[in-house]
Amino acid sequence: MPKLLVIEDERLERHDTPPGHPEAPARLHAVRRALGARHDALTLRPARLADDEELLAVHPRAHLDRIEDAARRAPAHLDPDTFASPASEEVARLAAGAACDAALSVTSGEAAFALAAVRPPGHHAEADRAMGFCLYNNVAVATRALQTRAGVERVLVFDWDVHHGNGTQHLFEADPNVFYVSIHQYPFYPGTGSAGEIGVGRGEGATLNVPLPPGCGDAEYLHAVARLVGPAALHFRPEVVLVSCGFDAHRDDPLGGMTLSSAAYGAMTHQLRALADTLCGGRIAFVLEGGYSALGLAESTGAVLDACLADVVESPALPRLRAGSPVWGVIESLRAAHGSALPGLGSAG
Ligand SMILES: [Zn+2]
Repeated sequence: MPKLLVIEDERLERHDTPPGHPEAPARLHAVRRALGARHDALTLRPARLADDEELLAVHPRAHLDRIEDAARRAPAHLDPDTFASPASEEVARLAAGAACDAALSVTSGEAAFALAAVRPPGHHAEADRAMGFCLYNNVAVATRALQTRAGVERVLVFDWDVHHGNGTQHLFEADPNVFYVSIHQYPFYPGTGSAGEIGVGRGEGATLNVPLPPGCGDAEYLHAVARLVGPAALHFRPEVVLVSCGFDAHRDDPLGGMTLSSAAYGAMTHQLRALADTLCGGRIAFVLEGGYSALGLAESTGAVLDACLADVVESPALPRLRAGSPVWGVIESLRAAHGSALPGLGSAG
């Protein structure tokens, strides 16, 4: 059975949000239910604080100061949805540190797969701005840690959170060595993530957005991974895959409008494992992003863990796409946007 490292920590519950806020400490209780059911198969480790050097590879000093200041004068809000409590700076550092450790563990060979079960999430955080529940951009900090501390050059960040990861895209859009691919509901919060956003300057072509209308489910996602994420990954040839692992495209999620089953997260993990086996020695680390249904979080986390723990990588049969599925139109838009620079888009291999 592959060795699966999970980084989780009760201290991550100390980041308080106002009553009724969806990004609440109880999210981690749901994740822990999935961990408990598989306890004997997992290697658990507490989170560690990201150090200044790791955070400053992504965020300017002024942003770190802003988060520290907000925690000092807590309760404070950093944008209309994003709050700081007295422990928030420490918790955000723990989340970023856990993401780094998850990523570094799969490159060091310590683990075959790793999951950083963290909050607050990270992918909406811009270099100089907290937003959308996110304080530090955990997956971006982990990406830079791989490059500066593990000698990794090329990282693929696959973001399957229902929201577009504006922060991650903007942080890497000019960097040809970080390929950002996102499947998300569109148009939707935060408003970015159209098919025409393909990266800028030297990073042109290394951003792939798969914007889907609400109501999409397992068939759309599995085809999008096979026909779009797959060809992009094969072309880019990453050394590691990091997953911005939000579970808010789940059908029970109160914020997202998609209809993914819990099992689909397992199927997508198998698809990724097959790609990673071909490209980068199987190295995948997952960093929790959104997901606001307790049932969706528990079941979907369990499905990802089970797919990582499976001895054999499965090739899930692609379900039939309904006639007129929006996936076909998105494929055409992406072929037009990327042209011959990104070959194979639309082919299921
Ligand atoms: Zn989300």
